[in-house]
Amino acid sequence: MATDDNLVCVVCNGRLDTPIRLYGYEDGSVDCPRCGRYDFTYEARLDFLTDRLTPRQRANISGWLARNQQFKIMSGHESKLKSIAAPTVVERMDFLMLELAAAAEPLGVVTFSPRFVSASWSVDENEVRSLLDLLKQRSLVQGQAETHRKYDCNITAAGWQKIEDLQRTNRESNQGFVAMWFDPSMKSVFEQAIEPGILDAGFDSYKVDLSEHNNKIDDEIIAQIRRSRFVVADFTDHRGGVYYEAGFAQGLGLEVIWTCREDDLSRLHFDVRQYNCIVWSQDALPEFRKRLAFRIESILGRGANNYP
Ligand SMILES: [Zn+2]
Repeated sequence: MATDDNLVCVVCNGRLDTPIRLYGYEDGSVDCPRCGRYDFTYEARLDFLTDRLTPRQRANISGWLARNQQFKIMSGHESKLKSIAAPTVVERMDFLMLELAAAAEPLGVVTFSPRFVSASWSVDENEVRSLLDLLKQRSLVQGQAETHRKYDCNITAAGWQKIEDLQRTNRESNQGFVAMWFDPSMKSVFEQAIEPGILDAGFDSYKVDLSEHNNKIDDEIIAQIRRSRFVVADFTDHRGGVYYEAGFAQGLGLEVIWTCREDDLSRLHFDVRQYNCIVWSQDALPEFRKRLAFRIESILGRGANNYP
């Protein structure tokens, strides 16, 4: 392998500051200014990384790797990596805003970093510039002095407010809180559908063991909801605690995904019924698992875990 090849990122094709570290049978370790740190196998490089990806696919994989550092790309990952979907433009603006905050000096002056490209799932710096223009239209940044490759900007007061709001809704959290009826009859639905559905979407699940909490909502439960990215609320048996936890989470601005067992749906409070509830039945748990994972991913995008 020519030395020049070892100075090019195999995902984003960008220039590397440090050469790819090869080990074993030419597997490699990359530290890319844009994608961050990841590994790849020789087969993956041959099979699909080298020239069979579109610029959009490269941008999506780069964006995904930026959130999943130290991932090892293998040839079996080809179809999943190629089909990663980009977040919406508004989500990308939010991601860029958070990355600007991370890179900002104390008074909000930001100097361009290649990480802005991956954090905002952009194909190139021009797309970052377009997103910055959109942020500027919303008065979240200003003073973007543009030179050939570099541009600086300031985060405005409104920008900092936006960043605080985004951080409050726990964009960086990977935890899904499960609020449900704690009854032995519900054990299988948790173990076979709710928990694996959350894991399939790339998130961690957190379920309270009420036996440790004397059957009441205490500070620990509230703290766990506060640090979650979303809540899965199952209304089967209509427990007051579930309504309370779901309402509390909504008040914090967290997404709540509503589910209920088929035979119990008619008793659902009217104000909950208007939320597109996932209805499940005990004899179709694999179906519930799939629908839950799909709902989570379509609302929040994929979580950061063990993907693909
Ligand atoms: Zn890269």
